[in-house]
Amino acid sequence: MTALTAVRGMNDILPTQTPRWRDLETAAAGLLLARGYQEIRLPVVERTALFQHSIGEVTDIVEKEMYTFIDRGGDSLSLRPEGTAGCVRAMIENGLLAQEGASHRVWYAGPMFRHERPQKGRYRQFHQIGVEAFGMPGPDVDAEQIVLCARLWETLGISAVVLQINSLGTPASRLAYRERLIGYFSRYKGDLDEDSRRRLHTNPLRILDSKNPVLAELIAAAPSLPDSLDAASRVHFDGLCELLDGAKVAYVHNPRLVRGLDYYTHTVFEWVTDRLGAQDAVCSGGRYDGLVSRLGGRETAAVGFALGVERVVALLEESGHEPSSAAPDCYLVWAGEGLAAPALQLAEELRRIKGARVMQHCGGGSFKAQLKRADRSGARFAVILGEQEWADRRVQVKPLRENLPQYSIPLTELAPWLVGQGIGDGLASE
Ligand code: ATP
Ligand code: MG
Repeated sequence: MTALTAVRGMNDILPTQTPRWRDLETAAAGLLLARGYQEIRLPVVERTALFQHSIGEVTDIVEKEMYTFIDRGGDSLSLRPEGTAGCVRAMIENGLLAQEGASHRVWYAGPMFRHERPQKGRYRQFHQIGVEAFGMPGPDVDAEQIVLCARLWETLGISAVVLQINSLGTPASRLAYRERLIGYFSRYKGDLDEDSRRRLHTNPLRILDSKNPVLAELIAAAPSLPDSLDAASRVHFDGLCELLDGAKVAYVHNPRLVRGLDYYTHTVFEWVTDRLGAQDAVCSGGRYDGLVSRLGGRETAAVGFALGVERVVALLEESGHEPSSAAPDCYLVWAGEGLAAPALQLAEELRRIKGARVMQHCGGGSFKAQLKRADRSGARFAVILGEQEWADRRVQVKPLRENLPQYSIPLTELAPWLVGQGIGDGLASE
């Protein structure tokens, strides 16, 4: 029998790791909600055709990374390799972009699936926080999203990231650049690798994205994208640079940054790090004004980005981020005839302290064994309820982290006493 292990490249995120994930998610959600981004939740499975039409047939993702299968009804479906396609589909399908001038800001978080070679920072199920804005054509919203990322790094104490930006220009100037690239690479066809030769006439921009070191020199000498930009493209890009300067967000203009997907126009950006080895992109995005109409919606400007959660969590770890504690404030130790119901009631009462974490011992055992558990839970106090305490309507409170004597406290005074010790954010009213 095959061992019942997890699928390669699909990870369990264990309780020791989730506090860091939650810190990232909480920080991101806070910054997004503060800017009017609303959460959207989307299916993990979509029709394969959606990804072919949006991401593009001649991309790594669609050519070799998708988990595609025929379902029992005979439809070709795929696990989503990214979130933008499904998000745009949902916006169109639910009529959110039907009105002229509609504008929306949304975000989502969840797993994505790509059949890549698993290695550190590269998995087959990984997670993204994705952010999309629709109906706003100017560089103001591009800047809003980039500055939002900068604030997120600040909030999390991450400094080892650099922002790279570039412009792909309008569809017309992108097309002009494409022709120049085809001309250039055709002259060196013999030097190209198999992937690049195949892409020469279908997606030549993607050649610039190649990670094959053999091509590095050829790519470095290729025509530069900024030389192909038309006036409108320049105005957009200069506008963005000005806004970033004003917001004091440092960036590097990388004329080789193209992003692999078919649908990008104007702004593209990527936050990179030198701390995670070869997997250096932690967050990438850009403008995709053509995608909504391409998928059957009304012509709608759009810009978005996706952050790789595993990679940002790795950066958090690397930067010495102390994850917020998951330990309870109180651990209720109890034993005695007829005390099960009063113990549960007491725990529930203490849980009315807003923000307090109260863990009740379950599974029996001696006071000594329970106190050991209490200590291991990381709780600050053990609250002890035995037969004598119950008869006196009192509890013993034993500080577990400080070298202090045990207190004996009447049940009616316990909650206010704990609040006085700094536990929770105060007593909830009825
Ligand atoms: P890469 O160049 O590393 O392959 P990408 O350009 O394919 O990245 P995007 O499609 O832009 O990545 O996805 C956005 C972010 O998601 C990336 O910046 C990265 O942080 C993360 N990411 C992408 N693929 C993976 C993966 N297989 N495992 C973990 N994180 C990933
Ligand atoms: Mg990739």
